[in-house]
Amino acid sequence: MQFRNVIGHSELKQKLTATVADGRISHAQLFEGAAGYGSLPVALAYAQYVACTNRNRDDSCGVCPSCVKYAKAAHPDLHFAFPVNTTKTVKSPAVSDHFINEWRKMITETKYFSEQDWYEAIGIDKQGNISVHEAEKIISKLNFKSYESEYKIMILWLPERMNAASANRLLKLIEEPPTNTLFLFVTEASGKVLNTIYSRTQRIRLHPIDENDIATALADGETSKEQIYTAARLSEGNFITARSLLKSASNENFEKFVLLMRLAYNKNVIGLLEWAENMPELGRERMKTFLIYAERMVRENFILNMKLDEIAYLGFEEYEWAKKFSLFINKQNVGKLYKCLNTAILQIAQNGNAKIIFTDLALKIMQMIRQ
Ligand SMILES: [Zn+2]
Repeated sequence: MQFRNVIGHSELKQKLTATVADGRISHAQLFEGAAGYGSLPVALAYAQYVACTNRNRDDSCGVCPSCVKYAKAAHPDLHFAFPVNTTKTVKSPAVSDHFINEWRKMITETKYFSEQDWYEAIGIDKQGNISVHEAEKIISKLNFKSYESEYKIMILWLPERMNAASANRLLKLIEEPPTNTLFLFVTEASGKVLNTIYSRTQRIRLHPIDENDIATALADGETSKEQIYTAARLSEGNFITARSLLKSASNENFEKFVLLMRLAYNKNVIGLLEWAENMPELGRERMKTFLIYAERMVRENFILNMKLDEIAYLGFEEYEWAKKFSLFINKQNVGKLYKCLNTAILQIAQNGNAKIIFTDLALKIMQMIRQ
């Protein structure tokens, strides 16, 4: 991946290329930020830039033999470690090498993906980890001399999935790496990275992506500008969220939301339980997208009802429906509804039991909607 394929972050790209030009390449770096901000793509582009034999000031060349191999994520001096677990075909101890083909496909084709997307791609329904067996593999890989490049680079995705044993096993290597070895850690939750690792790295923090950069990346020549900008604005700088908001900007979320509110208004408990039971079928990312959508609908309907000066951002169909529904979103319940939805988003993100979360949510909304 080249820097020009990384969405946004122009300032950060400049900083990173400048450190290479000045020969200030730190041997252990930690890229921290949400997956949707692009922390992994930035690390990949940086690694390709360091290894490129014909780089210019702003980017790797994209055509030298090193870049060609990097584009396929198949360079002999580029190594990866990421969380995995056992599957029907992969028995314990599972290590990254078992899943390297799926990994290459993910980083070269999907490019922006969440931890959950990764587990779905390799067919595990439990959390992955970076085990002490993986740590042994890393040590043996980095103890070889580099084959082609000046640097051997190890990209370790999600160090928060290492346990103390594997982190301890790697300490010496991180502290005194063999010459010309780079460790690039990529974390989504820097607070959960063991301090023994965290304190030995130079940190590079990623901020949310600029809305306009997200909108440009989403443009496909077919989707309306209005839809694209709405998705970009609601995503809060997270490209994965924006992409999935756009995908479900279709009627799916609207229909689910209308049904939920109708059942809640009619105090139809059996209907609400059934509604909640169907939600887990969507998978984590779409459940989260639905909840973000629901938050937005609550907010827009409140604005409409209160006739506030702020503009309500509603599509035509949403607006027609909201003319009546908005009367039920008022000062008494808007804060509570918002809080409930927000809690559900957090719980879904933390892998909570979706059926329980949505049942609880639906019943709470029933109590709030006619206040
Ligand atoms: Zn190159």
